[in-house]
Amino acid sequence: MNPERAQIQTMPAAAKAAKRINLLGLNREALEHMFEEIGEKRFRASQVLKWIHQYRVRDFDSMSNLSKSLRTKLSEMAEIRPPEIVSDRLSKDGTRKWLLRVDSGNCIEMVFIPEDDRGTLCVSSQVGCALNCTFCSTAQQGFNRNLETAEIIGQVFLATSLLEKPGAEDRAVTNVVLMGMGEPLLNFESVVAAMDLMLEDFAYCLARKRVTLSTAGVVPGIDRLSERCPVSLAVSLHAPDDDLRNELVPLNKSYPIAALLDACRSYARRNPRQKITFEYVMLDAVNDSLEHARALAKLLRGIPAKVNLIPFNPFPKSSYRRSPQAQIDAFRNALVSAGLITITRKTRGEDIDAACGQLAGKVVARAARVQRRKAEIRPGAA
Ligand code: SAH
Repeated sequence: MNPERAQIQTMPAAAKAAKRINLLGLNREALEHMFEEIGEKRFRASQVLKWIHQYRVRDFDSMSNLSKSLRTKLSEMAEIRPPEIVSDRLSKDGTRKWLLRVDSGNCIEMVFIPEDDRGTLCVSSQVGCALNCTFCSTAQQGFNRNLETAEIIGQVFLATSLLEKPGAEDRAVTNVVLMGMGEPLLNFESVVAAMDLMLEDFAYCLARKRVTLSTAGVVPGIDRLSERCPVSLAVSLHAPDDDLRNELVPLNKSYPIAALLDACRSYARRNPRQKITFEYVMLDAVNDSLEHARALAKLLRGIPAKVNLIPFNPFPKSSYRRSPQAQIDAFRNALVSAGLITITRKTRGEDIDAACGQLAGKVVARAARVQRRKAEIRPGAA
């Protein structure tokens, strides 16, 4: 189904259940459709998008270029409701992590990582995760549900409001990465509608290269993404052969490395200006030998790739150790000598458990095993 249609068709049900439509969840097409349905002009959508996402106005009465009657109508039928902030922690390196409540039982996490030349917001796409990667803390939480578009873009809405300095010209959030809790390609429609808003001129107006979706390798989702919303792609590879990858990323049993790299090659062909990032977590004596590095370089030959080495971040009950720095450096050098652009990701926000793979939120796990099986087995799961 066309994603815009899917958004629109879920509106009456959402409106009925919650009484009011949360306008945060509507991309431009869905909002235009809504205005048409209530007998208003389509261009109202761009005005309202600007009020919400650029001026962060939550109250319809302040939307001064709308008629009084439209403002009243909107306050009766709609609302602007981001997730609720439960806690806000600041790391000594400036990284900030928020715990956000999305419903009575569940919370998700979002992280902001400031750097000299940019500010990256890491957002969650699901409550928990069903994929069960062995080195990831989110996996331990199990899976509860997909986040709705309003809950995904609501994170960007909240962070930009919280980080905005009055009068500052520079934007605090210059990049968004879908690398928080969850597998974004298993929540395709809601994630893509949220990314529409990240890219939308009347909303966050980010360039495609500044929005990165990270996937554990949901092959049909990668194909759909290249057609529908070709943002920067990051792939969590973590191993150069199927045996090891089956162990670390069980999704590999459904979509093995050869199929995954084929999908990456076609993604790169359709989006020739972007390199694909391959993420590789550095686990001591598991996947970090020079043989692994050489095998990885061979595997990626011919793909416009860059490699991001992520030093493993431990969490309670994790059974892995981070590779020693000398091993990470040697691994990196081997890749660089083979001609691959390779960066070792700086570990940020470790003191507040905000680093990669440490996000846990508060998840009421629901039939996690069933969800996991579904995600692994059903090739159309994306
Ligand atoms: N499900 C998506 C996005 C979430 S994880 C994916 O798998 O890509 C974001 C990145 O952090 C992924 O590359 C993931 O493999 C990595 N990661 C997970 N746990 C980690 C840990 N404990 N230490 C370091 N990186 C980790």
